Amino acid sequence: MNSKPDRGISRRRFLASASMATSIALLAPRHLVTQNEGLVQTARKTAGAATITVQKLRGNVSVLMGAGGNIAVLPGRDGKLLIDAGLAGARPKITSALASISSDPIKHLINTHWHFDHTDGNEWLHSEGAVILAHVNTRKHLSATTRVEGWNFTFSPWPPRAIPSEVFDDEQTVKLNGTTIVLKHYAPAHTDSDISVYFTDADIFHVGDTFWNGYYPFIDYSTGGSIDGMIRATEENVAKASDTMIVITGHGAVGDKSQLIFYRDLLVNTREKVAALKKQGKSLDEIVAAKPTAATDAKWGNGFRSPKDFIGDIYQGV
Ligand SMILES: [Zn+2]
Repeated sequence: MNSKPDRGISRRRFLASASMATSIALLAPRHLVTQNEGLVQTARKTAGAATITVQKLRGNVSVLMGAGGNIAVLPGRDGKLLIDAGLAGARPKITSALASISSDPIKHLINTHWHFDHTDGNEWLHSEGAVILAHVNTRKHLSATTRVEGWNFTFSPWPPRAIPSEVFDDEQTVKLNGTTIVLKHYAPAHTDSDISVYFTDADIFHVGDTFWNGYYPFIDYSTGGSIDGMIRATEENVAKASDTMIVITGHGAVGDKSQLIFYRDLLVNTREKVAALKKQGKSLDEIVAAKPTAATDAKWGNGFRSPKDFIGDIYQGV
């Protein structure tokens, strides 16, 4: 039968629509950002229209995608544990997605870092009964007026109920719903508040925004991030990854060790090229025009950060 070409077409269509859905799911794709409104305002305003998907992983852990950063969920007798809170405007859709997993109440929330697309939902989740745990720098940034130059936006302090009541500095172990979860702070990477969350029994590793799978990442220099920190964190993630580990990303599809390695190489190689051109005295515009990321732009440059944004983030740090 002549079924192969048809399959090819439908697969391409599927990929196109899947990637479109993911773009919308990411905080504010660039084409939605108007001149008068920045990315943060647009992401918050469009959150209610997002499509939330639920993906079951392993060992009772699921991931919700489409409401800002990816949200991991572990239900059970101790109540649901959520890793990240997503955008507040997605509350109704997150609520129904959570209900589709189990009827356990929401009792625990861990933030992977302070950014709004991972913490805007803190307030409503706390009102539902969640105790919030995060790195000490997440509490610091949510408690103060915080400027992010890369987003051209100044955040007011979060409401008191949205601020983590429990914090840790380097590492913390949590036992919930019959499993052990290890939280570990990265040296400054995407921000200075990033942590990883490891579900030991399921071998599932949530690495927050140290890994964007299929999208150029944002690096927040305003709160301690840097390209070298991102590379160090990614090296750590690769070193920890087993061949069967499931890796939950901050943005983009759930990944594995081979995708972490691809991403590490992408960061390292792009950093090298940009640093060499900068050393020759080239301006940022000249470096962008030299297209150091040409090989990956078609796939990686259509989401939240353009090739120019990504090169700019690296340029600042080399
Ligand atoms: Zn982030």
